[in-house]
Amino acid sequence: MRVGTVVSLLACLGLSSAQVITRDVTVIGGGSAGTYAAVNLRERNRTVAVIEKSGRLGGHTDTYFDAATGTHVDFGVLFYENLTVVHDYFDHFGIPLTTVPPGGGEAQRIDLRYGTPVDASQGNVTDALSRYAAQLLQYPYLAVGFDLPDPVPEDLTLPFGEFVQKHDLGAVVDVIFSYGQGVGDLLQLPTIYVMKYISLEVLDAIQNGFLQTTNHNNGALYVGATEQLAADIFFNSTVVSMDRDSDPEWVHIEITTPDGRQKIRTKQVISAIPPTLDNLDGYDLDEVEQGLFGLFSSSSYYTALARVDGLPAEVTAINRANDTEYNLPPLPGVYVVTPTAVPGLYGILYGSEDFISEHNVKDAMSQAVQHLNGSNPEYMAYEAHAPFELRVSPDDIANGFYQELNALQGRRRTYYTGAAFDAHDSSRIWRFTETLLQRMQGKQ
Ligand SMILES: Cc1cc2nc3c(=O)[nH]c(=O)nc-3n(C[C@H](O)[C@H](O)[C@H](O)COP(=O)(O)OP(=O)(O)OC[C@H]3O[C@@H](n4cnc5c(N)ncnc54)[C@H](O)[C@@H]3O)c2cc1C
Repeated sequence: MRVGTVVSLLACLGLSSAQVITRDVTVIGGGSAGTYAAVNLRERNRTVAVIEKSGRLGGHTDTYFDAATGTHVDFGVLFYENLTVVHDYFDHFGIPLTTVPPGGGEAQRIDLRYGTPVDASQGNVTDALSRYAAQLLQYPYLAVGFDLPDPVPEDLTLPFGEFVQKHDLGAVVDVIFSYGQGVGDLLQLPTIYVMKYISLEVLDAIQNGFLQTTNHNNGALYVGATEQLAADIFFNSTVVSMDRDSDPEWVHIEITTPDGRQKIRTKQVISAIPPTLDNLDGYDLDEVEQGLFGLFSSSSYYTALARVDGLPAEVTAINRANDTEYNLPPLPGVYVVTPTAVPGLYGILYGSEDFISEHNVKDAMSQAVQHLNGSNPEYMAYEAHAPFELRVSPDDIANGFYQELNALQGRRRTYYTGAAFDAHDSSRIWRFTETLLQRMQGKQ
């Protein structure tokens, strides 16, 4: 039998005759955290492989290119905070950043179930924000990761709605909801997750302005990373098996790629995917890992770009309700309908606790837009971001979940990063990952 025939036969069987490749670090997941890790490991002269399930890097970063106007429009990740790690990372790719002046454009509060106006939120927001900031200052260990003390302060495990009442924070709920989208039922969420999401850095950015890429093209970061990492990225690939124990020197990973199976021999693993049991299929999870990762539940967050006729060009429609606590909109539901830099093109954000199909989300988005001005949106782009905001129960938090999760770092030559280990905030995910890389360096 000719060599070519053997190769095709193996490929048909999902096998490959390719050599085992050897890397210092294998990064699983090429989203915000994984891409940062891979790029910066390279900077530290370490060899890497990136295993990415989809056909591109960037995860929750979605950038649409409007060919007619030559304009980029971000409709996933939009903003960053003013952290050194953010400036360094964008400088590395030569991508300019601009500060968005605080305050933003005009916004209308509308109940998108009916198209009716909703009153302005009540109370002194500035005072309530100060009280919220004072609360954040009590928990400095929330700044990077979930480095919680034992016992965990009870306030951190309270449903956020109860925490708000206890500390008279009603006037700040609307702001927190606006900047803390995607988490599902905000008032039921354990307070720790709200504090991780709406951090002191976010409060600073609300006051002094967020950063955004000058060209509204966050995707450029990932185009740059794709060029730099080049053949070290395995796109459309997932782990089929992993052996972290048999060999004292190496972790052995087998992945499935569009070109067949590939074996990787690696010193260390960085897992940068949302750590649900479904996602970790193929990992050689032991009982401890299974027990911890099996506790996560999550919400879902969806984003679309649509052409809509007749909406005001500068006005953001914020979904609120007159018949709910703090006027928050019932979920599943639309968060906002926002104009973009392209006339007639609007971003629509939607959230739910449980996953909803694209068809049903678009239906619900369309109904909301019809209640705004009677027109039918034409969808140009759509992304479902699920699972989003991985969380565990108040009891699990109190019983030491995060202390046990942190103890996994470095265990079985595996390190973990991403939103579940810090917050749904790229700036802070990069800072967390940077800390992790420094820690790994000592363990090569
Ligand atoms: C609509 C929207 C708007 C947002 N806006 C902002 C914003 O303005 N600013 C901000 O800081 N944050 C924003 N976020 C939060 C954002 O989620 C985080 O900043 C960040 O993207 C999370 O990074 P991550 O690396 O943990 O996950 P992701 O970026 O989701 O990356 C995970 C990657 O792993 C891949 N993957 C998943 N499973 C597997 C598997 N089994 N094998 C291999 N690969 C796998 C995925 O395809 C993905 O590429 C927004 C999120 C959404 C959804």
